[in-house]
Amino acid sequence: MLNRRTWSRGAGARRAPLQAVPVQATRYLAVLPWRGHAAAAGLAAGLIALSACGDSSGSNNAVISADGGVADAAPLDASRPDTGPEPLRGPGVYLRGATVITAEEGAAPREGEAVLVRGDRISSVAPPLPVAGDELQVLDLTGMTLLPGLIDSHVHLATAPSAVDRALVRCLDYGVTSIKDVASPLVEVLAARQRIAAGGEGPRIVTTGPAFTAVGGHPISTLGRDDPAWARTFMIEVTDELQARAEVRRLHGAGVDQIKVVYTNCRTTCPRLAEPWLQAIVAQAHELGLKVVVHTNTNDDVQGALRAGADGVEHGVTAELISDETVAQLVATRAVYVSTYVVYAGATNSINMRANLKQLNVAGARLAAGSDAENSGTGWGVTVAEEFAALLAAELTPLQALAALTRTGAEHLGLGPQLGTISPGKLADLIAVDGDPLSDSTALSRVRLVLRSGKVVRNTLPVRPH
Ligand SMILES: [Zn+2]
Repeated sequence: MLNRRTWSRGAGARRAPLQAVPVQATRYLAVLPWRGHAAAAGLAAGLIALSACGDSSGSNNAVISADGGVADAAPLDASRPDTGPEPLRGPGVYLRGATVITAEEGAAPREGEAVLVRGDRISSVAPPLPVAGDELQVLDLTGMTLLPGLIDSHVHLATAPSAVDRALVRCLDYGVTSIKDVASPLVEVLAARQRIAAGGEGPRIVTTGPAFTAVGGHPISTLGRDDPAWARTFMIEVTDELQARAEVRRLHGAGVDQIKVVYTNCRTTCPRLAEPWLQAIVAQAHELGLKVVVHTNTNDDVQGALRAGADGVEHGVTAELISDETVAQLVATRAVYVSTYVVYAGATNSINMRANLKQLNVAGARLAAGSDAENSGTGWGVTVAEEFAALLAAELTPLQALAALTRTGAEHLGLGPQLGTISPGKLADLIAVDGDPLSDSTALSRVRLVLRSGKVVRNTLPVRPH
């Protein structure tokens, strides 16, 4: 969706020291970061030295380093005194005391573990170790939950009223560390993306630049009814296949991250793009290595988008109950379905949308979540937490709903290898919330700490005596 607003411009993983590296919720690969006896492995609850990684004599222990590499450990020396764990030292951020929800596939929450951040990356997730020196910033997150930074998979910077920078600041306030902008004026949104990439205040931006639509299609003739020239600053009307392909190449050359197409007839009130032209846009984008996301509202829209090869559908089916056929196609294609429940809930049939989300989840479709900020009834950052509650109401488990806001969102943005889970080697986009979002959905709106790329950008943690 898009509201009528005006755009206004606002102003390498390093190799970490050997660490405990979890591979499941309660198991660890050969993790011996301290000097001492082989028997020390058995003293640390939950640590399991895998015999496949080293023989029982300890003479040839293989160790998994924090960045996933495998190194040979020094032979264990039974004659040396056990001096306890080697303390951590050196620059970085050490987050301990929280329950850690990694959002990795199938991973259970990990209570009381610590996350070590070195530079812009997550170095390890492991039971806490002592700290020496004063270079390592230690933050006590007792009573809190540590999560990957949230991802808003559907926003419109073009609708931020005279203050893109303010919108971006609000995202960080609510723990949103990455956003996908769909339909904005090209030059302005690329400038905003560059400001953030250079260290500016706000979440990292993935953008489509201007979106494609039919001549007179949504939102030219709907939201832009009184001022179509305004709508044309962030939309491209498709007049034929060659023009559409040329525009895709132009956007690619300018540096957009994805391509967006609007494919709906607005419940018969606006023209829908011809399907062959949609297919041409998708084909051209894929030739250039760009994903394509498609704005849809009906089963017919979604099925047309999937036939064309879309990588994701924005809003999905909002105007009717989703059909079994549509669900099956979404599951089969693995296209990501971006829920924007909150923005539609006030305007259309929210009961249908909840049922649709439930059916999709039960069937195993891939779900991400978007706020559609800044449209009616939405706000920057805050609506992501509301979308979380909506997913719970659609009977997703809390971990499934959090995955939509983190892991699947990152995959949808094309950033899966870099973001979306708390995993060693990934960028350290992390948030701490007060309480437990698994039992209290409101906890997600109580963000106390935000790191983006390893840098603390929000900190309202309580001051605790040492
Ligand atoms: Zn939208």
